Amino acid sequence: MIIDIVKKYEPITSEQIADKLNITRSALRPDLAVLTMIGVLEARPRVGYFFTGKVPKNLISEAIRDIKVDKIKAVPSVITESTSVYDAIVTLFLTDVGTLFVIGEDGYLSGLVSRKDLLKIAIGNADIHKMPVGMVMTRMPNIITVTPEESAYDAAKKIVDHQVDALPVVKLVLEGNRQRFKIVGKVTKTTITKLFVEMGQI
Ligand code: ADP
Repeated sequence: MIIDIVKKYEPITSEQIADKLNITRSALRPDLAVLTMIGVLEARPRVGYFFTGKVPKNLISEAIRDIKVDKIKAVPSVITESTSVYDAIVTLFLTDVGTLFVIGEDGYLSGLVSRKDLLKIAIGNADIHKMPVGMVMTRMPNIITVTPEESAYDAAKKIVDHQVDALPVVKLVLEGNRQRFKIVGKVTKTTITKLFVEMGQI
């Protein structure tokens, strides 16, 4: 009701708002303080309250676009291409993750394996003690990545659009004219869910 009144009569003083609501100014004060703090209303001294045009919905979209991947990224589990499928499965359990990121001999991102990639090979006839993950992983350049400078929204959108559980957070390294990616973190469905819960807390 306060927002509607301000929209209609702006600029309007707190006294005038209180009058329209039939309440005292002091009863109105906490609500006005919250609405100003979250950016829905703007208070101009000696003029009154204005509606900023921001509604809680676009405040949320602003917030998730402001938060950088760098702030929310988690520690990735990284293995090398020559790791056996068996050891990769053990690592999956020991580190309690769903996706393992794979680096080549040079230490840069070369691919990743998800739990279903590993399940698929494990239920076949392959000798998983001998088979390296390099043979079953999804390989560069087909890996969807995100950079630390991108927003939480960008990362979540990539996860949804590409229907994957995890993205490696990478920094581009130029070696001559070759592009390489150094893994500096990960963003997963869990990372995004944690952010969601954090933002929902009051
Ligand atoms: P799962 O299939 O185990 O539930 P995902 O949905 O993440 O896990 O993976 C689906 C497929 O997409 C797998 O083959 C996996 O290798 C591949 N994949 C997972 N993450 C990425 C990514 N960031 N970029 C490219 N491919 C990916």
